[in-house]
Amino acid sequence: MKSNFLQKAGGRRSFFGVVFLICAILMQTGCAGQTMKYTTVNTAMGTVVTQTVYAKEEAVTGQITELITFLEQEYLSWRIEDSEVAGINAAAGTGEWVALSEELLADLAVLQEVSAKSEGAFDMTLGPVIRLWNIDAWAAGNVKPTTVENAPHAGTELPTPEEITAALQNTGYKRVETADGSIRLPVGMSLDLGAVGKGIACDRILRYLEEEDVSGAVISVGGSILTYGQKPEGTNWQVGIVNPLQTEQTLGILSLNGQWCVSTSGDYERFVEVDGIRYHHILDPATGYPADSGVRSVTILCKSGILSDALSTACFVLGTEKGMELAASYGAEALFVDVQGNIYMTEGMEQYFRETGEK
Ligand code: AMP
Ligand code: MG
Repeated sequence: MKSNFLQKAGGRRSFFGVVFLICAILMQTGCAGQTMKYTTVNTAMGTVVTQTVYAKEEAVTGQITELITFLEQEYLSWRIEDSEVAGINAAAGTGEWVALSEELLADLAVLQEVSAKSEGAFDMTLGPVIRLWNIDAWAAGNVKPTTVENAPHAGTELPTPEEITAALQNTGYKRVETADGSIRLPVGMSLDLGAVGKGIACDRILRYLEEEDVSGAVISVGGSILTYGQKPEGTNWQVGIVNPLQTEQTLGILSLNGQWCVSTSGDYERFVEVDGIRYHHILDPATGYPADSGVRSVTILCKSGILSDALSTACFVLGTEKGMELAASYGAEALFVDVQGNIYMTEGMEQYFRETGEK
């Protein structure tokens, strides 16, 4: 009897042992949780962040938002006193060299190259002119034409030509000195990475996704979008492009697989209208005025977020012809919409873009 009871008890013990072992293995291998689709919309870096993530844990979406906020606070914001960029700006004119973090050093090298190749159409030292226009106060995502009376910036005076000339004196990417991993700015100058912060965020998010158990994601940080991995059903990611002439409509769809960065610069994103003239947020560093290149929007598609974001701004300033050449020199795909609504794109873009006919 005794031995029989012991045998039974022992059998039950080994049964529970096996169950426990299987659970432990499942937890270790991550097979215990199922891949689910999580969708969130929130704000970070002063812009709308939309995420669709296929992962085993919802926490991933919160961590991505935190990552963007961390990036802004620690590195990129000229407004946040303790950020790396603010520290560089604070030392301008003191003669002091400021040591760069490895990440910012690499990012600034990319930006200096885009500045040089675009002959200054992209310039990360435009801050004094950007402040003068008060662009940061113009409503983000303001897709309806506004007037001075009804806009959130009501009462804003446009800068005078004299003020613009004076502010331009404190700009010029060629005057940024870098050596041995350090940077130095002349007096009155500053860095402003507003044109590329969202693209840099996409690069950092990509790195995070590669480390986490995420099978696919599409994440948009303002005008920059990252596609990553695959959907469970294996279909492509669909990224809509706004019609800049009718901003409530979609011009077309990019159908993308795997990992891509898409950045769009458009004159509808931030602007004011004064006496029937639209003043938008993409400035020509040669004049200090909103770029007047005959372009309404530029979309760039490539593998790097910082590059897609810098190129979209540079190409907007350069216009269709020179912009196409710049994009091609980086092997990036580009799509331009001009003031008449004509679409121009690189040959490579044609395989991804499908017009929706809503023009
Ligand atoms: P994006 O919408 O990516 O083209 O970035 C536009 C933002 O970048 C503006 O709101 C300004 O803060 C800044 N910016 C405007 N014009 C330029 C330029 N030519 N080069 C670099 N940054 C610029
Ligand atoms: Mg940009």
